[in-house]
Amino acid sequence: MNSSSGDEATLNEVLEHCNDLRLAPIPDVGSLPERYTGTLGHFPVYFPEEIAHAAGLLPVSVLGGGNRLELKHADARMGSFVCSICRSTAELGLNGSLNGLTGFITHPICDAAKHLAGIWARNFPEQLSEILYLPQNVNSPGAVRYIAAEFQRLRGELEKRSGRGVDDDALRHSIRIYNQNRRLLRELYALRRDEPWKLSCTESYLLTRARTRMPCEDHSVLLERALAAARRRTLPSQDKPRVVLVGGFCEQPPIEMLEAIDSNCHVVDDDLLIGLRWITADVPEKGDPIWQLAESFVERSAASPVQHDERKTKEGYLMEMIGASKADAAVLTAAKFCEPGLDEQVAWAKHLDGTNIQYLVLEFEEKMTSFEQMAMQLETFAESLLFAVAA
Ligand code: SF4
Repeated sequence: MNSSSGDEATLNEVLEHCNDLRLAPIPDVGSLPERYTGTLGHFPVYFPEEIAHAAGLLPVSVLGGGNRLELKHADARMGSFVCSICRSTAELGLNGSLNGLTGFITHPICDAAKHLAGIWARNFPEQLSEILYLPQNVNSPGAVRYIAAEFQRLRGELEKRSGRGVDDDALRHSIRIYNQNRRLLRELYALRRDEPWKLSCTESYLLTRARTRMPCEDHSVLLERALAAARRRTLPSQDKPRVVLVGGFCEQPPIEMLEAIDSNCHVVDDDLLIGLRWITADVPEKGDPIWQLAESFVERSAASPVQHDERKTKEGYLMEMIGASKADAAVLTAAKFCEPGLDEQVAWAKHLDGTNIQYLVLEFEEKMTSFEQMAMQLETFAESLLFAVAA
């Protein structure tokens, strides 16, 4: 086997493992490495995983049920106008798939997500059920102090549940581990920006998503291996338009949708799983670790439709993403019934109408199973972009 086919084989093996993890149930406590005593579920968008990690709880993102879950219980408890990820998350709880969690943390990113905490507390009293109140407005002078107090409260709750004290040194150690992971995720996205033919959006998504089911330290090893193999890939560059994909910050688009976009475009940046990449630079490893995490949330952070920050307007962060990734166009998606996502989509489209940047609007649901029409829309969109560039 020559080295090029060896790299391809390595990458395929890693990607297959990541896809298995995507479809796998939450890890069983007995299968966890010794330092973990349980798993802590958290709902999108952002959660300070370092605090759970330091408490010996494996942070597990609860990302809904995808398009293979049949809803049998959740519909009796939630309106049909609620987004799919909320309903399927409730279903996963009610059908016993999340029984092994030590706790479940959600956030007041929207009414639907906030009410999950009530459903949890009532139906799963044995689990810790909490809302982490991250501020709606991070520009207030008291924002960092407030977030630090909220993180401190979370630390206390996790200490009680895990029976393990979380001292500052343990937190700094966890911050170091996550900083390393964040660096690798930045490298992954840089590779897609610089040589998008070497790593598709679907592949990058699978690699990133693997962190939702494994310890961060192991995920970094996996990323290093995949990055080394992807960088050495010798695939020819393809004649596809460069686009950014936005709208995947909470409910996750089905993998088939990402594949359809990849077939037609090079996705050079996206906001998929943005909560895992929320902190955009190293969290300082010295000083009060809780304060450093809180300050990083405000000062070294990404943007999303569920976070108001006057320094990052809806239009501003999209344009920055397009500019930094040298994209030709944008694919503006939103999950069905997602109020924050649909609001943002309208604002983005309106803004792009005043520029010469083309865009395509797509609505998705995690439970979608038919993609033919979407694939046709994407094909037409990509052809018109290539035609415009050539003209
Ligand atoms: S997809 Fe939208 S509406 Fe649903 S929980 Fe997430 S932010 Fe809320």
